[in-house]
Amino acid sequence: MSDCLFCKIRDGELPTEIVWQDDQALAFRDLHPQAPTHILVIPRQHITSLAAAKKPDAALLGHLQFSVAEVARLSGVAESGYRVVCNSGTQGGQTVLHLHLHVLGGRAMNWPPG
Ligand code: 5GP
Ligand code: ZN
Repeated sequence: MSDCLFCKIRDGELPTEIVWQDDQALAFRDLHPQAPTHILVIPRQHITSLAAAKKPDAALLGHLQFSVAEVARLSGVAESGYRVVCNSGTQGGQTVLHLHLHVLGGRAMNWPPG
């Protein structure tokens, strides 16, 4: 059994509603939403962070971005706009060590981020 929280969600060991999925990625709502729409998109493959991604992962990284666009369309925020965030490493604010993209929408976003 994996110690990784998001691998547990992927494997159905942590009851979580999956809002979208395909053969390479899945998406579920963030437990502590920071916007009316706050969905996490993760690769099925365990990659610790963006910093840990290797060249053979490049196509998967592109697929994840496309998955975000799909999830945003399905969630109804594509037209109004949304923000995609990938925290990487300690100073990047990453707390779960399984690569994930935050999809935030449903309100106006501020810039610069904190
Ligand atoms: P990070 O800080 O690593 O960029 O983002 C991790 C995100 O995972 C946080 O926004 C946090 O709220 C979310 N999270 C942490 N534990 C769980 C959980 O058990 N279920 C879900 N759905 N989200 C979680
Ligand atoms: Zn994992």
